[in-house]
Amino acid sequence: MKGKEKEMVIPRDFNLPKEVSEVRGQDGKPYLQFNTGMLTLYKQTYGELSRFFMALREARLIGSRCKTCGQVMVPAASWHCPNCNFAEMEEVALPHRGVLAATAPITFFPSASFVGQAPFCRGYVDVATEAKIASFLPCRLRTTTGIPRPGIFVKGLELKLVFEDKRQGTILDIFGVPMVEIPKELRKKEPLLASALNLKAPPVPKIKAEAALKPALASALKAMQGMAAKIKSGTRAEKDLAGRKHVIKVKTGGGEFDIKIERGKLAVNGSSPRTPAADFTMTVENPAVFSKWVAGGSLSDAVMEGELWLPNLEAFPVLYALDRLPRSIRRDQEEK
Ligand SMILES: [Zn+2]
Repeated sequence: MKGKEKEMVIPRDFNLPKEVSEVRGQDGKPYLQFNTGMLTLYKQTYGELSRFFMALREARLIGSRCKTCGQVMVPAASWHCPNCNFAEMEEVALPHRGVLAATAPITFFPSASFVGQAPFCRGYVDVATEAKIASFLPCRLRTTTGIPRPGIFVKGLELKLVFEDKRQGTILDIFGVPMVEIPKELRKKEPLLASALNLKAPPVPKIKAEAALKPALASALKAMQGMAAKIKSGTRAEKDLAGRKHVIKVKTGGGEFDIKIERGKLAVNGSSPRTPAADFTMTVENPAVFSKWVAGGSLSDAVMEGELWLPNLEAFPVLYALDRLPRSIRRDQEEK
């Protein structure tokens, strides 16, 4: 099959192989069990909402407005005003910008339907700002400065609404980006397409070198190298890294270093020109984050707190794997 495979309603990972296996019963005797399933697939129409999503497909943002009370619905969930005895509503074109109505939460641990999309940010955008009464548009929020971090999507933030280049007719066809991040010449463009922005490879933030942080880097390197040396063949720790191959450049206020993951092994070394090109760069002011990680802390927590900077979603699963290491090593040692 050519091109991208269609995304399925039930991801493949949720399936089970057809097989019979053995299980021990409460009476201590062996029993057989087989894998099976129970599911219902169905199609659901958007009903009256279709018109709104069809407009999104055409890169237009519309609302329904009541001629009697003036309320604007966005998404246009109904074309008959519930407040005015179901008076017919008219279509209004809405501007591709808005104001964030409330500080938006960041989802780091999504439900099954959104696996692979986290961390993501979703908020309510006031689009029909001139209407007397209006609903808020719920949509994804993205930044051109890396993965979403606390402090970016705060109440009152002015947003540009951007359309995906390929649209299906879902609310994910549109997303908000802070207006200040949009190049001036694109701010009034309607529709503005995602491909016009640099969302994939954001510029790496500059980290100021501070002599006072050098010792912290030295001890972080020592701690990480000590941990790397404990990852032996056939252990839990090795399994955490199995199948991964990464070169990560880390820039800190105390200096730079590289993390290499290959064939279940971890290597941490001061930056050298001989290191192969990095898959991605992460930055943090204080290198002590890495000493804390080795001591059982968490790199993904440091991302959630906005301390550790990551460029994109693809970088996040690597951190989960790294976060498991200190505990796996401890358990490997306990078993010895
Ligand atoms: Zn009305």
